[in-house]
Amino acid sequence: MIDKNTDTELQLDQRDLDQRDIESSPEMRDFDDMLKESSLFPLKANGINVLQINVGFKCNQACKHCHVSAGPSRSEQMSRRTFEHCLRVLREGKIPTVDITGGAPELNPHFRWFVKEARDMGIDVINRCNLTVVFEPGQEDTIEFLAGHKVSVIASLPAISASQTDAQRGKSTFGNSIEALKLFNQAGYGLPETGLEINLVTNPVGAFMPASQATLEDYWKRVLGKKYGIKFNHLFTITNMPVGRFLNWLKSKNLLDEYMKKLTEQFNPKAVSAVMCKSTLSIDWQGYMYDCDFNQMLGLRVDHGMPVHISEFDNEKLNQREIVTKVHCFGCTAGNGSSCGGEVV
Ligand code: SF4
Ligand code: SF4
Repeated sequence: MIDKNTDTELQLDQRDLDQRDIESSPEMRDFDDMLKESSLFPLKANGINVLQINVGFKCNQACKHCHVSAGPSRSEQMSRRTFEHCLRVLREGKIPTVDITGGAPELNPHFRWFVKEARDMGIDVINRCNLTVVFEPGQEDTIEFLAGHKVSVIASLPAISASQTDAQRGKSTFGNSIEALKLFNQAGYGLPETGLEINLVTNPVGAFMPASQATLEDYWKRVLGKKYGIKFNHLFTITNMPVGRFLNWLKSKNLLDEYMKKLTEQFNPKAVSAVMCKSTLSIDWQGYMYDCDFNQMLGLRVDHGMPVHISEFDNEKLNQREIVTKVHCFGCTAGNGSSCGGEVV
């Protein structure tokens, strides 16, 4: 049975306005036209290797760039029943990996139960952690729990400078993130002999493209290692997508046109064949299905004759679905490309 969609009219109107804002930018070209020029239209899925589930918008932080506009006052949370649907889909679709995101996923009351069930099924679990959540009340043993279930962690840290990180994420976030990373290292994360993986993810603190991932990873490893003794596996650089709170920030600074121009000019056909929607299915807190987390935030559900809710999951159809593309997709295909796992080419 399908959960009732409780989105307010206001939220849907806002998403529509956001999309129109980007499309009306004078610098904007049609993304599908660019695909056609490169003989890459229509963009199609090539199986589902990752089920990415957004378990709700509650977060202990309220970052300026947050593309899901999460924060402490958000109350939307995935229900146990929707989590159960996710487990069934992982089993039926033989999907090897579940990537849990939010908000702060750890704040969902069903988070630990779901992780245990998925791990018992032999599914690889990725948890997208904002680091500071481990200092929230009731989260004292979160790191131990994640390590005990061999959950891979992708931890967000905008910059290795306190001032830049705090400007984007709030006062003292950098210091608390460093302390949290030390605790992850103490639990074995980032140490080759344990197999416990912690990857950091960074996005530019402003309206510009990320620097080269390999160069930045090398630099971050040296600085974080020398200054704080911190180890991590990889650094993922992610392009800021013109959606959610980052879009509002661009508009407030009159930077939307300039930013969209940068993304469009750097369109890279090679990145198109590796965009994450080709191998990922994204689920929202109510169980609706999307080609990616960004489409989810824009309210663009899977389309082209696909079932839209996880209770109607059809592996064969969704495996080769046509993807819903719009102008924000330039964010994934500019330069070396961008995905939830960093550069794609
Ligand atoms: S970016 Fe991450 S940590 Fe920041 S408000 Fe959004 S979900 Fe929370
Ligand atoms: S935003 Fe990126 S991942 Fe999402 S549909 Fe567009 S190209 Fe695919």
